[in-house]
Order: sequence, then C-alpha cells, then structure tokens
Amino acid sequence: MRLEELWEQLEARLATWGRTHSPWAVHFNSGSCNGCDIEILATITPRYDLERFGVKIQGSPRHADILVCTGPVTRQARERLLRIYEQMPSPKFVLAVGTCAISGGVFQGCYNVVGRVDAVIPVDMYVPGCPPRPEAIIDGILKLLEKAQAEGVAT
Ligand code: SF4
Repeated sequence: MRLEELWEQLEARLATWGRTHSPWAVHFNSGSCNGCDIEILATITPRYDLERFGVKIQGSPRHADILVCTGPVTRQARERLLRIYEQMPSPKFVLAVGTCAISGGVFQGCYNVVGRVDAVIPVDMYVPGCPPRPEAIIDGILKLLEKAQAEGVAT
C-alpha cells in the first residue's frame, strides 16, 4: 500500500473518531406534547450528564451532526423539519425519540398530523417510550454513534 493511501485511511479514521466522540445535536419538536422534550432536557442536567459522552445539545442545525426529533410531524411543522434537515451538514443523523415520533402514537389519524418522522426525513435510530426515560435517550444516542463509527461515517 502506498504512503498516500495509508495517510488517507488514517485521516478518515481520525475524522470518524472525532465526529463520533464529540457530536453536536439539535433538538426539534415537530408536534410533541412536550413530554419527550422534558426528558431530553433531563439528559443534559448534572444527574444524567449527556456531555460526559462528548455530546453537546446546541441551537443551530448548521452546526449539528444529530437531529433529535420528538412528536409526530404536524402539517405546520413538516416544512420546518425538512428545512432543518437540509441545513445540517453531511454526514448527518436523525434520532426519533418517543412513540409519537416512531409511529404517530396517540396523534395518529389527527386532521393536522402528517405522520411519523420517517415519513418525512430518513431516521437512523429510534428510541421507544411514552416518554422514554433519559437513560433510554442517552442509550439511543450512544447506539447511533456506535453505528456511525462502525460504518466509518467520515469516509
Ligand atoms: S411519546 Fe408520549 S410523551 Fe412523547 S410526545 Fe408522544 S404522547 Fe407525548
């Protein structure tokens, strides 16, 4: 193997390692009852301390690697969800949090609801529960990062 190829491989591995050990996440409520959102907030409190895994929740989709979605997608939120997803740089990942994000949950069939999150944008990992506990949300994020690491996201 040539030295350049070796260097390229090393660079790709380092980029993947960096990306999966310090991801930034943006949270979007596309129609949730706020139950799931409160549990997401709990993950960044000192009790659960999501940042110990290098994960930072911040405000802009332009700087985010992970989109954390809660709730079903309402007709009003559909365009916003698409716009947020398109604003994120690649490679990007989507975590659907809660039964409503996964299936529409209790909001299924409502006149103002389009449906589950993966009916609008691709979803990489699902966290079930109504609402899921903070431990389950953290577990979902870590599983998503493991998956990204195994796939060598930055290559
Ligand atoms: S899964 Fe439960 S807590 Fe979360 S948005 Fe739906 S109804 Fe609310």
